[in-house]
Amino acid sequence: MTADITAAKAALAHLDLVDAETPVRAASRDFFWYSPVLKARLDHVTADFVVRPRTEAEVIEVLKACYQHDVPVTTRGAGTGNYGQAMPFEGGCVLHLNRMTEVREIAPGRVVVEPGCLLKDLDAACGETGQEIRMFSSTWATATIGGFIAGGSGGVGSVTWGSLRDLGNIIRLRVVTMEAEPRVLDFTGEELARVSHAYGTNGIITEIEMPLAPAYDWVDIFVASEDFGAAMALADDLANEDGLLIKLASVYEAPTAHAYFQRVRPHASESDHLVGLMVAPHSMDGFVTFLARRPGVRMIYRSDDHNWPRGPGPVFEYGWNHTTLRALKVDPSITYLQVRYGFPDHRALVEEIRDTFPGECIQHLEAIRAHGKVGFAGLTLVKFSTEERLDEIIRIHEEKGAMVFNPHRYTLEEGGRQTVDDVQLAFKREADPKGLLNPGKMIAWDDPDWAYERMYAYPRMQAAE
Ligand code: FAD
Repeated sequence: MTADITAAKAALAHLDLVDAETPVRAASRDFFWYSPVLKARLDHVTADFVVRPRTEAEVIEVLKACYQHDVPVTTRGAGTGNYGQAMPFEGGCVLHLNRMTEVREIAPGRVVVEPGCLLKDLDAACGETGQEIRMFSSTWATATIGGFIAGGSGGVGSVTWGSLRDLGNIIRLRVVTMEAEPRVLDFTGEELARVSHAYGTNGIITEIEMPLAPAYDWVDIFVASEDFGAAMALADDLANEDGLLIKLASVYEAPTAHAYFQRVRPHASESDHLVGLMVAPHSMDGFVTFLARRPGVRMIYRSDDHNWPRGPGPVFEYGWNHTTLRALKVDPSITYLQVRYGFPDHRALVEEIRDTFPGECIQHLEAIRAHGKVGFAGLTLVKFSTEERLDEIIRIHEEKGAMVFNPHRYTLEEGGRQTVDDVQLAFKREADPKGLLNPGKMIAWDDPDWAYERMYAYPRMQAAE
């Protein structure tokens, strides 16, 4: 099967199509460079052309033409993913959805929207009815809702609502298949798992229905403590205070705040551990009472009442993977891990792992609810030395009982639980029989017998020049 790029381009010439080298290369990259492992392997990857459909009908046209001419199609929202998810390993077409941005319907408790809508624009539209999306990635200002569902996992709001894939956090997805005659399917219930967090490997999401929550003017807060255990307990206990409404509880081990958060630095010492919070305004009185009961912690910032000459900006832009970004900007040798510390031993496990890698790993935790229990997602900062040492650090975490979602791998399986997702694979067989959607991201499709003993290397990856 050889891609006929020229024929596909000719068939799509009437659409918004770009094939000039510089813009195509820009639209072929994401935030893969967070990982030195992925940077070494993906830096050269680029598509042959980019198409920006305006409607679902145009998406169908692109898929039909690319199917006919055997051209791979990699979908792009805003390209803020961290694992090369939106990168076209075999070249071909980047299907850029940033023109499909319509918010179609807002009703009490739900919204219907096109996939290319930015999370911040979606929130602004919902805000007009006094509502907001339950959760968003910390890339709220730049990422799309389609990319969040197909490539993300959760984020700001997950302390209350759990993860994106938890039942009820997505209501309906409309999906177009990659066949001679693409089909348009509406998925609800069990069917949602076919395409959510599937990196666009088995269908293109063209319409999304999401649940909404009441909107609040969240109060951004930083609390400091010289005691890491006290900072961690504060975030955990606050997330378990049933009467207090919060949207974010992040913990940053010292010296993160002092070393990497430039606008916080004048207000936090090198030995201060920091907690970043978003608290609903009507919960502030209860929160202040909660805080007054705890020794060894002090509120250094609240957005509704402060005297900082330069405000820090939104506190969520210090959390989730923004922490890594801020650290990387100061120290390019930093990389990160994604760890899950499950209830009920999460605090003890964090302490044990913290003691294991002094000076090499810096703890960054996000309180997250899973099936009603609060635990931590860890986006640990790691001082990178070699790939071998990084693998060893991951192995030690796993041996101690922490689950690692390896952010230094580009396949769904290696970034997940290292097992085949039968539901996603079965739907790919049905919806993408030629295997043209986002090639190289699903090992189960390429090599069903893969044993996960070493890093998977996609055999048809574009060669570096
Ligand atoms: P893209 O990167 O463009 O795409 C992501 C994946 O989805 C790709 O595989 C792409 O092919 C596929 N895709 C995109 N649109 C569609 C579609 N319509 N149909 C089918 N497939 C599609 N992630 C989190 O989950 N939580 C966080 O808090 C978080 N914080 C981050 C902070 C920083 C600073 C950075 C750089 C990344 C962060 N991420 C986070 C990762 C990423 O930003 C999110 O997953 C984001 O929501 C992706 O949106 P996007 O529009 O950029 O998607």
